[in-house]
Amino acid sequence: MADADRTPCVLVLAGLDPSGGAGLLADAEVIRAAGARPLCVATALTAQTTRRMHGFQPLAPALALQTAQALLEEEPVRAIKVGMLGTAAMARAVADLLARAALPAVVDPVLSATSGAALFQGGPEAARAAYSALWAHALLTPNGPEARVLLDLPEDPRDADALERAARELVRRGAKAALVKGGHAGGAEAVDVLCTADGCERLSAARIGGSGARGTGCRLASALAAGLARGRSLPDAARGAKEFVTGYLRATAEER
Ligand code: PLP
Repeated sequence: MADADRTPCVLVLAGLDPSGGAGLLADAEVIRAAGARPLCVATALTAQTTRRMHGFQPLAPALALQTAQALLEEEPVRAIKVGMLGTAAMARAVADLLARAALPAVVDPVLSATSGAALFQGGPEAARAAYSALWAHALLTPNGPEARVLLDLPEDPRDADALERAARELVRRGAKAALVKGGHAGGAEAVDVLCTADGCERLSAARIGGSGARGTGCRLASALAAGLARGRSLPDAARGAKEFVTGYLRATAEER
């Protein structure tokens, strides 16, 4: 089969949450639903249920790299999604991989679970240093608290203007693009801000509270990467991903 006829693949490097609420299983589900094919490389194994996080074990960067490299050589990979990395060593390895692959890449800087449990070994300074190596190759998708850590801000960005300042600053400091998400901010609208060197766009949807949904960040980044793999422009893929997550939140809230 000619390469162009094959379903575009998204290479995912992320943690395995065996409950499927977040991480690789959730990523695979979303990418398939978006019409692309997921190729999943585990960076860490987590001990997790739908209710709570019990701990995690990072995997060897060499094995993740070997697997990812082989998949890049043999499959029609059109975009890369990076989720939980777990350690600075894994972040360095993945930064090298992104530099060599030169593909559209979405990096969700996962530092902790919604419950507060850590998903990265080391404090905020270690996380900031580790993730900064990935900026130049990627669209970053931090939520407010993650943006505070990445930029060493005195507090979380809490409204659309503060989210935009954070997104602009990430780009100014070298990120290819930044989508700073307002899920943790206040207001009736959940506003995310997408910035590139060309400017910023606000993506807005009605805030859906109390859904208890897990893995929204994983799902947004995966839907975005799948859109890019299928050839959509960044703003278009970002709007599609936002719609997807809004639908997921609504469905989860209705199930409760
Ligand atoms: N487990 C893994 C492997 C993740 O990547 C993430 C988030 O990205 C989580 C757990 C936390 O998800 P949540 O806080 O939505 O439960």
